[in-house]
Amino acid sequence: MEPRGNFVKIKCKCKNEQVVFDRASSEIKCLVCGELIAKPTGGKISMVARPLEDLK
Ligand SMILES: [Zn+2]
Repeated sequence: MEPRGNFVKIKCKCKNEQVVFDRASSEIKCLVCGELIAKPTGGKISMVARPLEDLK
């Protein structure tokens, strides 16, 4: 585990794959469709869209 956070790839429903910082302090929206894909929780982001790991 990285104490300073790291980058994770999230796949939006529109199939856009976006790399985001997992300790982002603001809401992260898909750059393609504008859908909210992750939101801040004070620590690690909460993924609204499916993280890519789950697609394996
Ligand atoms: Zn999207």
